[in-house]
Amino acid sequence: MLDPGHQAGREEAQGAGHEAGAESAVRSCVGCRKTDARDVLLRFVAAGEPLGFVPDVRRKYPGRGVSVHPRYRCVEAAVRTGALRRALDVSVETSAVELAQLASGQYLRRVEGLIQSARRARLIAVGTEAVRDALAARRVQLLLVASDAEGSRGDLQRAAERLGRSCLVWNDKDGLGRLFGRLTLSVLAILDTGIADELRQALQCVAELAPPSSPGLSAAEES
Ligand SMILES: [Zn+2]
Repeated sequence: MLDPGHQAGREEAQGAGHEAGAESAVRSCVGCRKTDARDVLLRFVAAGEPLGFVPDVRRKYPGRGVSVHPRYRCVEAAVRTGALRRALDVSVETSAVELAQLASGQYLRRVEGLIQSARRARLIAVGTEAVRDALAARRVQLLLVASDAEGSRGDLQRAAERLGRSCLVWNDKDGLGRLFGRLTLSVLAILDTGIADELRQALQCVAELAPPSSPGLSAAEES
């Protein structure tokens, strides 16, 4: 019997570096063993000194990799059953919580990178007034609101919903402000569809990677 985990690992190793047909863009998750599009799965590689499991959210590391759904229960199953260890042929102690947190950290850096890309391309509205203007011009693709934003937050959320745009609560005012060299920032809007989609997916991964008992890493914290 072929272990699906091993199979996934070999496919990754062979597929590294070149894009073949649509078939090769599918991988199986070593947690739940279901197949899915490669791009929605989270890749792990064995790297570092001492050797350990390293998440590779952007699929940049060369060599053998293994795919897992970016959600806690799949990471947990991959660790518990030993499928992750077998697929990468590495026997080091690890915990699902630790791996999920490492991956979350990478997705959060991805979110910050996407926000900076939007900023460089001037496809972002920063602050209440700019967001209000962008909403009026129907240019908003995604609204990001700080968890501790006050005042007009509700109005802006309702306006975004009327346009059929997602509104996500992420970070706090200090954290959003830091991204823009400001003291605080309550709200920003992404004006590009592609960046908005990637950002939504990355934040979804962060939320789903949070262990069930931990309220710490949720993308949609209640304030
Ligand atoms: Zn899975």
